[in-house]
Amino acid sequence: MAEKYGLLIDYAWCTGCHSCEMACKVEHGWAAGEANGVRLFEDGPRMMPDGKYEYTYLPVMTSLCDLCADRTAAGKLPTCVHHCQSACMKYGTVDELTAMAKDMPRTWIYVPEQ
Ligand code: SF4
Ligand code: SF4
Repeated sequence: MAEKYGLLIDYAWCTGCHSCEMACKVEHGWAAGEANGVRLFEDGPRMMPDGKYEYTYLPVMTSLCDLCADRTAAGKLPTCVHHCQSACMKYGTVDELTAMAKDMPRTWIYVPEQ
């Protein structure tokens, strides 16, 4: 059985910069509207028990995400991974991503239909 690939989002380090959204839109030519392979959600500010405020930024892949099939077929990283300024997005096999996630506190793994 072929290995499945996906994206790991180590969102504890996401700064909400929107570079992944912009890179995906440009790569696929989705100029107008909200069509995109990734959408960034923001939660906060919320006050924590220690009185500090916290934000969470969460990039979520949509049904349009094809894991940048053309780029990865050419041996390149998906463009969102390449342009993430926090290096908090990783591309790899599900086994590789699962192994990485064990040492990351706030993470999710996206695996599209393949
Ligand atoms: S892997 Fe490619 S298609 Fe999927 S969200 Fe990232 S840039 Fe968009
Ligand atoms: S490019 Fe990276 S740091 Fe910026 S919003 Fe996307 S996931 Fe977060």
